[in-house]
Amino acid sequence: MRPRTTSDPRDGFLRSLGAGSAIVAPLVIEGRVEHAITLHFNQPNAFDEIDALLLRSVASHVALALANVQVYDLERLRRTRAESLERVVRMLRDTRTTEEVVLVFAVTVSHEVKVACAIYEIDRTAATRRAVRTLEPARRGMPARVDASYLLPKLERGELTLSSKLPETERKRLFGTNSGAIVPLRSDGNVWGFVLFMDSPGAFDWEDVERRVYLRTLASHLELALSAAIGFERIQQLARALSESNEFKDDLLAMLAHDFKGPLTVIAGYCELLLESSPPALHEELETIYSQTQRLVRLADDAVALAQTQAGGFSLDRSVLDLREVVGESVKARNRAADRIRFEAPAQPVPVSLDPGRFNHVLDNLLMNALKYSDGEVLVRVSRGEENASIAVTDRGIGIPSEELGQVFTRFGRASNARRKGVSGSGVGLYVSRKIVEVHGGSISVASAEGRGSTFTISLPISDSL
Ligand code: ADP
Repeated sequence: MRPRTTSDPRDGFLRSLGAGSAIVAPLVIEGRVEHAITLHFNQPNAFDEIDALLLRSVASHVALALANVQVYDLERLRRTRAESLERVVRMLRDTRTTEEVVLVFAVTVSHEVKVACAIYEIDRTAATRRAVRTLEPARRGMPARVDASYLLPKLERGELTLSSKLPETERKRLFGTNSGAIVPLRSDGNVWGFVLFMDSPGAFDWEDVERRVYLRTLASHLELALSAAIGFERIQQLARALSESNEFKDDLLAMLAHDFKGPLTVIAGYCELLLESSPPALHEELETIYSQTQRLVRLADDAVALAQTQAGGFSLDRSVLDLREVVGESVKARNRAADRIRFEAPAQPVPVSLDPGRFNHVLDNLLMNALKYSDGEVLVRVSRGEENASIAVTDRGIGIPSEELGQVFTRFGRASNARRKGVSGSGVGLYVSRKIVEVHGGSISVASAEGRGSTFTISLPISDSL
């Protein structure tokens, strides 16, 4: 733009200067006249073409310098904003619960970005303020609870809403006499609430695109931290519910097992007495009652052991015993009912440290399974190695499908062929047996072929001496 030279005494501008002549060069920054440089003199016609040219050149230099200052200021502002954002994000990183997230966000944003802010959670159409930080002096707006039905469609569309775009009643309710913006917050794909940024009128240019992008970025970090906290709280809730239901189940199991076992043992005792004293015609029925009662006693035993293993392990009452004798006793007890078990053991003692009560439970499980899942002879062999002793129980029964071998030691794990053939069972015995063997410092494994039989092997550390 060319400078304007004037010496016309009717020129209002000249008169206001009280000068005889003047020359005015506009300062144009980004296409807009922002300032002007004026030279004036008390005599008329003091300036010529050359002065105009010179002033024009000076004016373009000054305009350039001013533009540079603006760019520099903008850069500095951006850098400060970026640093503030970084600090907000850093503070959010240390939060865990939603309570902490919203509070830390409100406090750091008001401190770092110098805008008041309130975070609202929405339940249906009502928005409840979860955290707020006002700037001094205290302002109205940012109510504790507000009807958000008007805002909902905007929030659902993910729109940032400027206070200036709200109807007056809504604006007053949310922002008082101040200005600001509302940014939606989502969690799990749904609207969780919104964050309201607010400042005193004129402090910020809320229409500024960069500022809006900045507020959105802040809100996205808040969203991220909120989602993580909501996830964390849900997991905690689930874990609590799970542990409560587990405790309840363990208590129930232990109580059932104890209260069942007493009466069942009495029934089994009377059955034995009746079997000895009653006429043979009744024996078949009595045998059935007896064996079924025994099964229930067994189930109750498993249930007690299961409850104990679930309730955080159990203690062992150990002593060093000869494994040949421990296993031999169990075999003898089983053979009393059906003489199908052959027992082999080395000539020398096999000292192991074990809790006989608990270990008998394991042996009984293996022997009863071998008898239950096969018809023929069962071989039980105790052997002694350098560091370990082992017990192998082999039968030539139904076996276990190879792909299901892993699951028979899991809780309630049963092989498909046992189910298919209708052999009764609970899938608890081997699980409990594995736990008991493991607390003894040993291991249990199985080798099996479907239709050909199975060998269950327990390995235990050898003890120094008996
Ligand atoms: P249960 O026999 O009461 O079902 P267990 O925990 O003792 O429970 O055994 C788990 C599963 O392992 C059984 O259901 C059965 O499928 C399989 N199993 C155990 N012992 C044998 C065996 N000797 N022969 C074939 N399958 C067996």
